[in-house]
Amino acid sequence: MPELPEVETIRSRLAPSLTGRRIERVEIRDPRLTRPEPPEIVAAALEGERIADVRRRGKYLVVVLESGRHLLVHLRMTGNVLHPAPEGVEDDPYVRAVVSLDNRSDIIYRDLRRFGTWELLEAGELDEYFASRRLGGEPLERSFTAKRLSRALAGRRAPVKSALLDQRAAAGIGNIYADEALWYARIHPLRPAGELDEGEIAALRVGIRKALRLGVRRQGATLRDYRGADGASGAMQHEFRVYGRAGEPCERCGTPIAKTRAAGRGTWYCPSCQPAPSDAGSPGRD
Ligand SMILES: [Zn+2]
Repeated sequence: MPELPEVETIRSRLAPSLTGRRIERVEIRDPRLTRPEPPEIVAAALEGERIADVRRRGKYLVVVLESGRHLLVHLRMTGNVLHPAPEGVEDDPYVRAVVSLDNRSDIIYRDLRRFGTWELLEAGELDEYFASRRLGGEPLERSFTAKRLSRALAGRRAPVKSALLDQRAAAGIGNIYADEALWYARIHPLRPAGELDEGEIAALRVGIRKALRLGVRRQGATLRDYRGADGASGAMQHEFRVYGRAGEPCERCGTPIAKTRAAGRGTWYCPSCQPAPSDAGSPGRD
């Protein structure tokens, strides 16, 4: 599932070639994409618009249109935006939408599992949209301070891993980068979020940024969901410290990486570097 680094990688590839282009024709093949809005309404509204910029907020791609409207694209599990259209795409049954531009190129939206969404917002609706979803701050921005993270986690009894996944404390973190961030911070994924002390919060902030920055630098991770989707293969999967590495030695201490579940998701951690909730705070913890 694409997380902040994967979406940022897609964004940075799209922005230079899409900015300034006019949308001539939009064909939405899957009505589920724009639900509850009828696809033909969204398509008609987009036709004639000029793309002013392609931004990102959390895991959303934000297509800024010249009229002030925004098209929010959320890729969910397996969505992908391809431009220019790859060879042989006419026969691809997973193409959900085709956007034709004024330079005769096509943007292809492809989604195997169909959970992705397109939402067209009118001018001035963007901030309210994200606020209503309680979307947290951008973890790579300066404004993402330990104080802010601390406030977002205060009083929460949920495991810190779940708290990171729900997007309120920080936007854009998913299963991979939550596990990686917690390993960097030496915090067990099942520790109650509200019980982290000041030092742990500071370490968590650093861990989140480290994991995400590395992901952006490696142009995201390419996992089985994306195989063959397009040329966007990142190298982050070679940098995982814990994610998917059960039984392999922790690179810090050599202890085999363990696997558990948090928020219903497979969760990897080092049982030695990341002490379990009951051990935390016990004598002898360094
Ligand atoms: Zn370790």
